[in-house]
Amino acid sequence: TTPVATSVFETLESEVRSYCRGWPTVFESARGCHLHDEDGHAYLDFFAGAGSLNYGHNNPVLKRALLDYLERDGVTHGLDTHTVAKREFLETFQRTILAPRGLDHKVMFPGPTGTNAVEAALKLARKVKGREAIVSFTNAFHGMSLGSLAVTGNAFKRAGAGVPLVHGTPMPFDNYLDGKVEDFLWFERLLRDPGSGLNRPAAVIVETVQGEGGINVARAEWLRALAELCRRWDMLLIVDDVQMGCGRTGAFFSFEEAGIVPDVVVLSKSISGYGLPMALTLFRPELDVWEPGEHNGTFRGNNPAFVTATAALETYWADGGTEEQTLARGRQVEEALREIVAEHRRRGAEYRGRGLAWGLTFTDRGHAARICSRAFELGLLVETSGPESEVVKLLPPLTATPEELDEGLRVLARAVDETV
Ligand code: PMP
Repeated sequence: TTPVATSVFETLESEVRSYCRGWPTVFESARGCHLHDEDGHAYLDFFAGAGSLNYGHNNPVLKRALLDYLERDGVTHGLDTHTVAKREFLETFQRTILAPRGLDHKVMFPGPTGTNAVEAALKLARKVKGREAIVSFTNAFHGMSLGSLAVTGNAFKRAGAGVPLVHGTPMPFDNYLDGKVEDFLWFERLLRDPGSGLNRPAAVIVETVQGEGGINVARAEWLRALAELCRRWDMLLIVDDVQMGCGRTGAFFSFEEAGIVPDVVVLSKSISGYGLPMALTLFRPELDVWEPGEHNGTFRGNNPAFVTATAALETYWADGGTEEQTLARGRQVEEALREIVAEHRRRGAEYRGRGLAWGLTFTDRGHAARICSRAFELGLLVETSGPESEVVKLLPPLTATPEELDEGLRVLARAVDETV
């Protein structure tokens, strides 16, 4: 039965938003991988704000940095002015992330959300190339504003708003997961065909692992072929690293493993490290065609987020180590998923993922939702993803200990055993 505490939300929420997550409780406090509700129940959080809490809830180092900043009356809202917090973030991002990777990309603060960062990337690509079409992929998720929605490969999310896909033709890569490099031959035929409606696109936008789309992992070889195709056809390559960036797949950027350098990179979610709204659009310096004031917004400079972001970069990325640890933790998750899948092979169980982003799915597409609700009852927070919510998505904080992972994975195995 639904606890009484949620009823007030049920009344109010029908007016203010379109849905609420299927967790019938009221959360009160959180630390690391753990969330507590107001009735004193504890939950292990393997959802981590859809990848926006890679360093856990209320990470103590980040919290200290934030409290110190507030104590000394640091600027909280600076609009787009220069502030010390912003400068320190930019210097730290340059030193810990861009320079060691040989990247000379410029950093733009497009607004508070991933959607804002995607929108700026699309606008920039169209302006630079003077062309309109943008190619995106089936099951892609890029945001909820009309532009970012227009490259979101999910008809349900687009249809009600009457937003067509901006590439104007069905993408050839229906099965992204098994996408073959040869698929690009077909794509090139479309590009060459004046009647295809595809024309010369300004850009291609891609997630290296589709998060909302169901943890669909693009192979490194496929990403390299895509980058090469973009080069040949003079299209910008935009990597949307909103969910898979900031170390989720191991390396800081999810595209590093493939050895490609996108023209534009979009980051948000875990960049502030503390769940504070912050987003970046990174682009090659020669793409900086913005006129002053051409793209702005009130909440471009969230100074408390700069402070926690700087602390997160110093703590987790200045000396390396985070990548290896994530990959090791990922192997632990993979091992547990392999066992679950072996037990439930008859039900068509499958798993996939990279780093600490994993998905588990079954022939019966309804299993995922049932597993997530049973996991909730057993004290584990996991969400579904995929076009039919058919994938159980695991995004534990990168800072989860092996013991915490083990505990959560045992709960997951039990939820699966009791459900499918
Ligand atoms: N791109 C990707 C890959 C995402 O996963 C998301 C959010 N789930 C977004 C963009 C949009 O980000 P936001 O919700 O912060 O607008």
